[in-house]
Amino acid sequence: MANLLVTGGAGFIGGNFVHYWNAHHPDDRVIVLDALTYAGNRATLKGATNAELVIGNIIDTALVERLLREHDIATIVHFAAESHVDRSISGPDAFIDTNILGTHSLLKAARSVWLKGSGMPHRFHHISTDEVFGSLGPEDPAFSETTPYAPNSPYSASKAASNHLLRAYHHTFGLQVTTSNCSNNYGPYQYPEKLIPLFVLNALHGRDLPIYGDGMNVRDWLHVEDHCRGIEACLLRGKLGETYNIGGGAELPNLAVIDAICAAIDRAFADVEGLAERFPDAAAAKGRRSEELKVVVPDRPGHDRRYAIEATKARLELGFRPQWGFEEGLRQTLRWYLDHKDWWRPLMQSRHESCALS
Ligand code: NAD
Repeated sequence: MANLLVTGGAGFIGGNFVHYWNAHHPDDRVIVLDALTYAGNRATLKGATNAELVIGNIIDTALVERLLREHDIATIVHFAAESHVDRSISGPDAFIDTNILGTHSLLKAARSVWLKGSGMPHRFHHISTDEVFGSLGPEDPAFSETTPYAPNSPYSASKAASNHLLRAYHHTFGLQVTTSNCSNNYGPYQYPEKLIPLFVLNALHGRDLPIYGDGMNVRDWLHVEDHCRGIEACLLRGKLGETYNIGGGAELPNLAVIDAICAAIDRAFADVEGLAERFPDAAAAKGRRSEELKVVVPDRPGHDRRYAIEATKARLELGFRPQWGFEEGLRQTLRWYLDHKDWWRPLMQSRHESCALS
């Protein structure tokens, strides 16, 4: 590989992927195309030496065509999306625009440059979600690649539509595509509207920890570095036209995740000198337990009960296995947020309005 186009590379998973690719493929050059929405952050790309940020929208087909030609790009890794379910409930339009029309714009650009032009070998890898499969009951088998789609939120419906477009461009036009559906990611650089960074930062500031409903919605937690490893495996070994499920093998109810966050914070305040001075509003700085900040809030409308990923195909065909255990990954993530106040502090000011969403 030489040059890659990474869409949404200033976001959480895309940003981690750019750093991962730089570290493991130092001769490759990464062109990041990102519109820098509220979720995009230039600071995430600091230190990524072989990456160049182009600020632009994936819906701009002409821009994408120009980037593919100018940089002689034969690989697209497509992360750019509106990604927060709560926002898709309060305002679905942006999800249709970016996730469906934006993905289609990228496919059109890829088709026109790669199929109508040089006919070069190429790959378009699409990052999608387990949420396209809908919700599981407690005893249901985990989602496999052949589970029928049953998306329940405007977000998951828009991602399902984008997956179908990839499939159609492969079958109809011969575009060389792969798709991966992953479970809930966590790790460094995640915007503090998603559960783990939101609860970490709220606890460090002595704010409520708002729990939806009974807190028993189950998710399969995947460390973002394992996800990057899974995407790398899809790019290097994934069969064209195929779909792969990437999971972390860590199914947990939200309440267990929240209790683990509270325990990890309390332990850090006991073990690490100076934390109480740096975060004086934290419950743990006042000799109280972080779990005292938990409050129950009304449930999200249409809240999916359980997601679980069956990742056997990725293991057998790609050799993918998650390497992070959840407890260890959570400790590493907490340490990252404790050490990177400069990254998240500017977001805390602009986040007040979105905080109400959580
Ligand atoms: P994110 O919200 O953190 O980042 C999205 C990035 O895309 C941001 O940098 C944003 O500026 C950019 N972007 C948004 N609209 C754009 C547009 N029209 N043009 C160009 N750039 C645009 O998202 P994330 O959590 O990193 O998710 C990345 C991908 O992984 C998404 O496709 C998402 O559906 C999928 N996914 C995420 C998770 C998760 O747990 N975070 C789980 C499953 C799947």
